[in-house]
Amino acid sequence: MSAIKTAIDELVIANRIVAAEKVCDAFGHVSMRHPENPGRFLLSRGRAPELIEASDIMEFTLEGGTAAGNGKPYLERFIHGAIYESRPDVQAVVHSHSYSVVPFSVIGEKLRPIMHVCATIGPDVPVWDPQVNFGDTDLLVSDMHQGRDLAKALGARTSILMRGHGSTVAGASLREAVYAAVMLEVNANLQLKAQAFGPVTFLTPGEIEKIRARQNKGRPGEGFDRAWQYWLRHAGFPTDE
Ligand SMILES: [Zn+2]
Repeated sequence: MSAIKTAIDELVIANRIVAAEKVCDAFGHVSMRHPENPGRFLLSRGRAPELIEASDIMEFTLEGGTAAGNGKPYLERFIHGAIYESRPDVQAVVHSHSYSVVPFSVIGEKLRPIMHVCATIGPDVPVWDPQVNFGDTDLLVSDMHQGRDLAKALGARTSILMRGHGSTVAGASLREAVYAAVMLEVNANLQLKAQAFGPVTFLTPGEIEKIRARQNKGRPGEGFDRAWQYWLRHAGFPTDE
């Protein structure tokens, strides 16, 4: 099987997983860098992740121009292109509006890892506010100026919140990005519950570093891969172990 065919099949599965895990509803999207051309990325035409088929996957330049495929692209494709442009290490990006995360984009309270499996989201999750550089907008990332501003705020991190809107996560692989997107929602939900009872003890930066180092050494059947196999079944696909 060609690298591009394999990549498209995995990207379709990733979209179905983020839908099954309630990270994305009608909105949100998952992309991956083109496996043979780092100056391009793969992303569906504009439709809900749960509905996406291989024939929906299009190819884009990093500036968001259509390079292959047909259909109306997502308005917010610039999120993806700008992050691939600024982060050569990033191979996949998930943008979502998952419901437990959004409160942390508006309350001035930081979203921080609270549970060991959530360390992947990173020790520092900033909030990007388009009001700072663009004034009143519709809050969407609708051109490369806004995409680059978001990518600059993300820096070398994994996750960023977007004020009154949602979040974006970047991974060194498609499986890592999907894992981080799911765990960002899990952590937000847990943190909201825990904070209702008073001050919370978060993971320390050193604990986060050690957990992430172990995850990054995970072999097949461990870490991101074990989660991926579980989510495959949840989303209605056979496991590939
Ligand atoms: Zn959005």
